[in-house]
Amino acid sequence: MDTEFLACSGNTTRWLQVGTLIDGESRTPVTDGHLVFDAGSILHAGAEAPAPDLVGGRSAPDLVLPHHTLLPGLIEAHAHLFLRGGELDPDKRKSYLTQSAEMLLTQARRRIAALLHSGIIAVRDAGDKDGVGLALSKAYRERKTGDPLMPYIDSPGAAIHHRGRYGGFMGSVIEEHASAADCVAARVAAGADRIKLIPTSIINFKKGRVTAKPQMDAPRLRDLVAAANRHGRQTFAHASGDEGIDHVIRAGIDTVEHGYFIRPDQLDLMAEKNIAWVPTFAPVQKQIDHAELMGWDNDCLSNLKTIIANHQKSLIYADQIGVTIIAGSDAGSHGVSHGADFIYELELMEQAGLDPIKVINTATGNSANRLAFSEPFGRIKAGCKSRMILTAHRPQDTVSNLRKNQLCLFDGHVIPTSN
Ligand SMILES: [Zn+2]
Repeated sequence: MDTEFLACSGNTTRWLQVGTLIDGESRTPVTDGHLVFDAGSILHAGAEAPAPDLVGGRSAPDLVLPHHTLLPGLIEAHAHLFLRGGELDPDKRKSYLTQSAEMLLTQARRRIAALLHSGIIAVRDAGDKDGVGLALSKAYRERKTGDPLMPYIDSPGAAIHHRGRYGGFMGSVIEEHASAADCVAARVAAGADRIKLIPTSIINFKKGRVTAKPQMDAPRLRDLVAAANRHGRQTFAHASGDEGIDHVIRAGIDTVEHGYFIRPDQLDLMAEKNIAWVPTFAPVQKQIDHAELMGWDNDCLSNLKTIIANHQKSLIYADQIGVTIIAGSDAGSHGVSHGADFIYELELMEQAGLDPIKVINTATGNSANRLAFSEPFGRIKAGCKSRMILTAHRPQDTVSNLRKNQLCLFDGHVIPTSN
């Protein structure tokens, strides 16, 4: 295939026909689908050929690729871009964070440029206290023609937590402000695209449960969510342990992040209230993969395996009852690297029993339709940005095929990828 031909600029249009077209929303791919796009956006997609005036009177596609699959570029919905995730050594992780905000930003910039080579075209950053995510979000919005390519980024800035409780490395405390409303207003003034809350602690792997009481009760969360909504911002909550999850559901959060130990009745409520779930399998699975290095004994390892098995069951139940499931790897957390481990997150959802097309939808259309991004992407349909993956390796058979060589078509550029 002449990959250079797929590049385009200005309003030059390209008309492709591909063997399989996965649009990011539907359960059933289109066979022998047509796609017309220019550097800016998709002009036509579907089973029918485009109208002649859309393709300058051409009567046949410019390129017919019967063995290729086209799908939307991937959206990583939970990553901490300020953190180097692949690092396993706890001391090295700690010393990494002693660097200046400027150094952290320099390294994060390199990280995001690399993401396009994983087929990731957008990231919902999940928070940092040094302004790294906010600077990247601003850089994206203010980029000019000719600047290096970068994926769409949005960020909550510093996550909100309580003094003395979990979250200090990625957030700042609500006690710095007179009220919940003031705290949210300060985040918005700093440039936050959305509001990240830390209402619970993390899992105690030795005990196999969340042992600490939630940081925030439902009334406190309701105030924070209401304030965010008044500013037109979505909210997302780090929540593990069923007590804390109860609080965030009652407060009307937009997405539950992690959600370990979630109960079926809580998933029922989430389906009813259109609260989405970002289950982040990777950070816990990595504790299993590297148990020895992380210092876990056999009891602990068996706890971890039980936690993952229950999480898998919850995922399947959530899918059955129609909870919107969104893919996020928690890249940046211990052992979870940016890019490649997003594909690992997708593989873990497939291993849990979700079929590959549904998994692809969690990383494309589900995110795009639920997370109120400021630009249209993540779906193959007219009006969405030209940010797609073209591959000969059939991700519809297994998402592991997304690790194989493919092309990321991004605003008229052609970027080879590998994971
Ligand atoms: Zn996180």
